[in-house]
Amino acid sequence: MSSTIGHYVDGAKVAGGERTGPVYNPATGQVASQVALASAADVDAAVGAAAQAYGGWRAVPLAKRADVMFRMRHLLKERTDELARIITSEHGKVVSDAAGEVARGLENVEFCAGLMHQLKGEFSEQVATGVDVHQVRQPLGVVACITPFNFPAMVPLWMISTAIAAGNTVILKPSERDPSAAVWLAELFTEAGLPPGVFNVVNGDKETVDAILDHPDIQAVSFVGSTPIAASIYERAASNGKRVQALGGAKNHMVVMPDADLDMAADAAVSAAYGSAGERCMAISVLVAVGDVADDVVERIRQRMDKLTIGDGTDPASEMGPLITREAQQRVGSYVGGAADEGATVVVDGREREFDGDGFFLGVSLVDHVKPGMKVYDDEIFGPVLSVVRVDTYDEAVELINANDYANGVAIFTRDGKTAREFEFDVEVGMVGVNVPIPVPIGSFSFGGWKKSLFGDTHIYGPESFNFYTRRKVVTTRWPEPSESQVNLGFPTH
Ligand code: NAD
Repeated sequence: MSSTIGHYVDGAKVAGGERTGPVYNPATGQVASQVALASAADVDAAVGAAAQAYGGWRAVPLAKRADVMFRMRHLLKERTDELARIITSEHGKVVSDAAGEVARGLENVEFCAGLMHQLKGEFSEQVATGVDVHQVRQPLGVVACITPFNFPAMVPLWMISTAIAAGNTVILKPSERDPSAAVWLAELFTEAGLPPGVFNVVNGDKETVDAILDHPDIQAVSFVGSTPIAASIYERAASNGKRVQALGGAKNHMVVMPDADLDMAADAAVSAAYGSAGERCMAISVLVAVGDVADDVVERIRQRMDKLTIGDGTDPASEMGPLITREAQQRVGSYVGGAADEGATVVVDGREREFDGDGFFLGVSLVDHVKPGMKVYDDEIFGPVLSVVRVDTYDEAVELINANDYANGVAIFTRDGKTAREFEFDVEVGMVGVNVPIPVPIGSFSFGGWKKSLFGDTHIYGPESFNFYTRRKVVTTRWPEPSESQVNLGFPTH
């Protein structure tokens, strides 16, 4: 009998009800445990605990909130390896990559340790005679965070760090595919001194999410996941009067200009396309070869692919692990099969690579002569498949990218500053890399795509996140002499 991962409510682990789902070890293909799938009543209990904790937490002095963040930073840094191994056991990514995810999540805790600065208000003196105005930032109340499988620690940390720092209390609903990291983070926050009820984890599926979206006591929802679900979450939560930010999927292009260093570009393309088995929202999935570089760059990528070591993420020799589920392994493979039927050239077919055992492994694929209109180009594949689109000019490259519905990340490889600057100006994508294939902003900026990669108007983590998780209150003050008071029905002016 496998164990069941429950919820974390009011500072303690709690068992779930009867509904459960399997959690796999993707490297073996075996069910490792079960996860509880919360009902509406379970969600309600967690929201009750969060609502109960809210009054106390928002009154905690900022310096004491910062203390929790500093302690959390220390603990997380000290125990990165433990968390990385938990991530690998359920997600499959290699341990070094999982540790990288923790490090990028840690940036958000570090940024939030400076919450004093982010929560600072504004003051205008003497806006009218004897009248001053100031603005404060106040928390929203109970907020919910719903996260995807591909970053089971980093994406929760993107959200919860700021939500908590700003004085809210939180319900986190992590992916049911790899839920253990979230419960572990909740326990660590408790160890760091966070009071019970401030950060709660409710495991579950669509039924659980629907209960969150419809709960009247949840004020805001942060979501990261695929575009169709992001769109539906945005609509349902907003129609229930909640503040929403819903980050969706991606199809990230990497432009290789004729003047680029082709070895550097090939290294970057292989790293960004196949790292974490392509299961990153900022993975490069389309390489746009400009001018006559295509044959050369395709060959350099192919040579590098042969050398990649794919295996169990716990093996230090592995550079890439398995996919998250059997279904993902088959779906991703089917795109490679379909690409040839659509007229593309399959240079390397990852399905041909053989693996021992029943893990959800798939080899890396490279597909050339891809065009818009082919499924391999139009869909977010979310696996180790790199497409190559050949164009003649820079303008064609930009036109291709700007016509795409997704607009999360993009990169250009060139040695020419003027081209890079023009690209930055022209391209309609939220995050741009110049000779940087995965331009995930550092924690002091905010992260977000454009178009169908983000529903709502606020990017996640960093300064924009403090806007999302606070509401501004403006106070107008005067201290007149009572003796000067009189009735005046006119509209107040200065
Ligand atoms: P997903 O959309 O399937 O699931 C995300 C979350 O939504 C999970 O918690 C899941 O339980 C829940 N969910 C799934 N189906 C639902 C439904 N019908 N109704 C309500 N809730 C539902 O995404 P995933 O497969 O876990 O993650 C991969 C996707 O996330 C990719 O599309 C990737 O691009 C995207 N992603 C985007 C970013 C970003 O910052 N833009 C970051 C990471 C991942």
